[in-house]
Amino acid sequence: MNSFQQLGLADDLLQGIVALGFENPTPIQEAVIPVALDGDTDLIALAQTGTGKTAAFGLPLLQRIDPSARNVQALIMCPTRELCVQVANDLENYSRFAHQYKVVAVYGGAGIEGQIRQLKAGAQIVVATPGRLMDLMSRRAIKLDLVERIVLDEADEMLNMGFKEAIDEILAACENRESIWLFSATMPEEVRRIAATYMDNAKEITVGGRNQSNENIEHRYYVCRADDRYAALKRVVDANPGIYGLIFCRTKIEAKEIAEQMIRDGYNSDALHGDLAQGDRDRVMQRFREKNLQLLIATDVAARGLDVQEITHVINYGLPDEIEIYTHRAGRTGRAGKKGVSISIITPKFEDRIPQIERKNKAKFTKHPLPTGMEVCEQQLYQIIRGIHSQEVQYAEIEPFMPWITEELKDLSKEELIKRFASVEFNRFLSYYKNAPDINIRPKGERRRGEETATSGQMARLFLNVGEMDGINKKDFIKFLSRSFNVPGGSIGQIDLNKAYMHFDIDDAYVNVVRQGLREFTINGRRVRVDDAAPQKDKKGRSEDAGFDKWDKKGKKKRRY
Ligand code: AMP
Repeated sequence: MNSFQQLGLADDLLQGIVALGFENPTPIQEAVIPVALDGDTDLIALAQTGTGKTAAFGLPLLQRIDPSARNVQALIMCPTRELCVQVANDLENYSRFAHQYKVVAVYGGAGIEGQIRQLKAGAQIVVATPGRLMDLMSRRAIKLDLVERIVLDEADEMLNMGFKEAIDEILAACENRESIWLFSATMPEEVRRIAATYMDNAKEITVGGRNQSNENIEHRYYVCRADDRYAALKRVVDANPGIYGLIFCRTKIEAKEIAEQMIRDGYNSDALHGDLAQGDRDRVMQRFREKNLQLLIATDVAARGLDVQEITHVINYGLPDEIEIYTHRAGRTGRAGKKGVSISIITPKFEDRIPQIERKNKAKFTKHPLPTGMEVCEQQLYQIIRGIHSQEVQYAEIEPFMPWITEELKDLSKEELIKRFASVEFNRFLSYYKNAPDINIRPKGERRRGEETATSGQMARLFLNVGEMDGINKKDFIKFLSRSFNVPGGSIGQIDLNKAYMHFDIDDAYVNVVRQGLREFTINGRRVRVDDAAPQKDKKGRSEDAGFDKWDKKGKKKRRY
């Protein structure tokens, strides 16, 4: 492998790279930098995000800027605002010990006036989204006629986002360009067309084959019923306690709903989707980047500009329609030499699509059973115990309390102490998952693991905050309980359905499973609330919920809930 020195980079840039901790060039840097430093060859580089492509074009680009000329000499086009900012920052970092080049980032979603002022003050390198650049061109706020080098970063993404015409116009406006360096993760027809129209004898660089499979990514999938997808998501997250993950949803609405549910359920999570104002998007991304958020629930479009290196898991909450989107999603993990896991939670009818994705990604997928409640608890316990070693101790602060703590706990043996400390966190998961149903799909006739078979003969009565208004009818409700929680029809007693709420009787043997399970559902965007209700005593089946009757009769309040 070459070192950075051998690639022909100037000393002052080398200093910047060393300060960033880059020791050896990545394969794409090794292949691109010498070509880009020498002559005016057009380049097509097939590179995924996370391969070091920014430095591959950024370093030679900086080296070839004439510090004495104040005009725009290089133009970098990126699909998103976030990527523009990132690239501009990276260029500034590389050149920290070199000449202070004037780099200006221009992108939509921010005031144009300030950007115009920055351009007027002099820009040698402009990093732009195509839309904003067009806007600036139409206001005559930028001159591109002296641009020598153009970089199209994530060209396929820019075309996917509908920037075809803008790219055409911009390239045509750079009439004195000497070279174009095009970077793309994939090579669709439209990218080929751009290359054929604007580039001469372009040198194609593909590192490790097109759609190179990333050995560091493990692809897993779980199959469950549509109704169980949220419960499955929680299981997967809970079974991976150290997760720092990106959860992809297919739609904005889904991303919003899932994020709302996860926040309500106490997960350190937030949503990133197109309905957020730019300022909110920035804040969410910042929190995620700084690891103040553990889980980010995003749509594909909104997550485009997000560049985070240490994501441990990507979760596909359903498969995307296009295989290439799966590739992009999965590529968010397993970066910078670290291992990553791409998890897909799918319903049975999508299982057929797995072999196609495997072929395209040159990667093997493994099907895993959804963790049982006990397996989740087990993983949580391991995490708690492992965490003890890395637990920071504030010696000075805790010291004054030590005599009292020692005195207070002196009657407990070491073993007993360990059990109790471990239980502080463990109990929370245990109580939640103790009676959790197995949500794996079993072949017909086979019982779910841990399924209760006996009935206790005792009935309990539950209240739900949903009713006829939510489209519930008795027949479907019985079917739903039996399908979701394996409750035999005979274990469901009286169902009293009202407009906005309902009560039902259920055998004691199932009450915990149903109570826990139902809480994971929403109907019409409303979280299902389950409460105990007064037991049903009337054998004829009339509701004896005294509370309701009284309140209604007194006419003080129509509904208690
Ligand atoms: P990129 O593909 O340009 O988004 O880069 C992915 C990540 O790899 C960034 O965080 C870079 O800082 C890092 N990186 C790029 N080149 C190197 C290198 N030669 N050695 C170590 N890290 C690098």
